[in-house]
Amino acid sequence: MSYDVIIVGAGASGLLAAITAARLGSSVLVIEQKEKAGKKILATGNGKCNFTNQYQNPQCYHSDDSAFAMKVLSCFDVQKTLQFFKELGIYPKAREGYYYPNSEQAASVLAVLLLECARLGITFRYKEKVREIRKPYFTVITEGEDKKRQSYSGHSLILAAGGCASPQLGSDGSGFTLAQGLGHSIIKPLPALVQLKSPDKSCKTVSGVRTQARLTAYSDMDKLAMEEGEIIFTDYGVSGIPVLQVSRFIAKALDQGKSTWLILDYLKDLSEADVTELLKERRKQNPAKTLEELLIGLLNHKLNYILIKAAKLDPTKSSAQVSEKELAAIASQLKHHKLMINGTNSFEQAQVCAGGVTTREINAESMESKLLPKLYFAGEVVDVDGTCGGYNLQWAWSSGYLAGISAARRQ
Ligand SMILES: Cc1cc2nc3c(=O)[nH]c(=O)nc-3n(C[C@H](O)[C@H](O)[C@H](O)COP(=O)(O)OP(=O)(O)OC[C@H]3O[C@@H](n4cnc5c(N)ncnc54)[C@H](O)[C@@H]3O)c2cc1C
Repeated sequence: MSYDVIIVGAGASGLLAAITAARLGSSVLVIEQKEKAGKKILATGNGKCNFTNQYQNPQCYHSDDSAFAMKVLSCFDVQKTLQFFKELGIYPKAREGYYYPNSEQAASVLAVLLLECARLGITFRYKEKVREIRKPYFTVITEGEDKKRQSYSGHSLILAAGGCASPQLGSDGSGFTLAQGLGHSIIKPLPALVQLKSPDKSCKTVSGVRTQARLTAYSDMDKLAMEEGEIIFTDYGVSGIPVLQVSRFIAKALDQGKSTWLILDYLKDLSEADVTELLKERRKQNPAKTLEELLIGLLNHKLNYILIKAAKLDPTKSSAQVSEKELAAIASQLKHHKLMINGTNSFEQAQVCAGGVTTREINAESMESKLLPKLYFAGEVVDVDGTCGGYNLQWAWSSGYLAGISAARRQ
């Protein structure tokens, strides 16, 4: 069968592209290797789907070409996204700028997209993996679970196959292989929005502890990023939103063979001098307490303990015998606790994939390949990854919309 537009991948970007192209009158085929569409959409926002964010700025999107994403996003911005979903039935609920469907069900977002696809007569082929794309104007070879091969032809092709993150939900990196087969270059894919591993044994001691902190990520002598929020210690290292946010920078630095670490500031509203004064005051009031007892009530007691150890002090030492220098050493740990990082968790645990098809080979006005006419890209397969907070879906919607509209207009 021949179609105007063939789309590889029924994720967020592929569905947006399909709807947009079909609304302009194109016949559209979507090929999906899983048994159903939008598996990843269902997992977003802990099942609630944080589908966009009111606050948009270039720092929210990362790529080798930082201007690329903003150009694409301006074609289908947050207002247009909210309007698009409102028309489909998604009444938005904003929480500090983070948008969710009022139903708080990611399933609602997927349902309205699929209802619109059905209304537009879009054809889906499930459980077929695209193995090969032959050019020109395009022959797509798929393989089913029974190893049976099928062939489809399309005037235009949109590659919306995602990256490598969470392969259990479908995106297994095969989009990169297909893009390479069509002559495109790939920026090395790395896990992003992912937990970090530390060789520091003390993480195990405090595993399960949650604490507020300001976190600064470093590699060699470079400051990579700073975030604030709840850190969660785990057996292998650290997790929590601020950790996920800095993880793509750490992943890149580790990949370049640099040494990386985090500095955790547990009392960000006080200066180091203020913390030293606070400790002196507590010692004055409680001279009979041990050093460990002196810190009770400041941070989680397990965390207090590892910070005393990190300052190379004895937790059982009497406060009265603790010198000013030793108190200053504890204050320093409370403000600048250093945690070496030696890895990230794998793609299985990552929410997104950094890297992908280089934007240098894609036209930001259309998402069309600069190398091969009528080939388009959308979503995470492209070298754009967003920070946590609705930005990755916004990228999928915007790039999917632009690819869909461009492919339909090029018929
Ligand atoms: C647990 C989790 C929570 C998240 N929460 C949020 C959130 O709240 N807000 C947010 O903005 N972002 C969130 N994200 C990120 C966001 O979901 C993704 O960035 C976005 O869904 C990517 O859409 P996509 O269409 O590019 O790719 P995908 O959704 O990965 O879709 C690609 C599709 O292509 C199919 N495919 C791949 N290769 C082939 C092939 N060869 N043949 C046929 N089909 C193929 C796959 O099976 C898949 O269905 C989250 C991600 C995860 C994993």
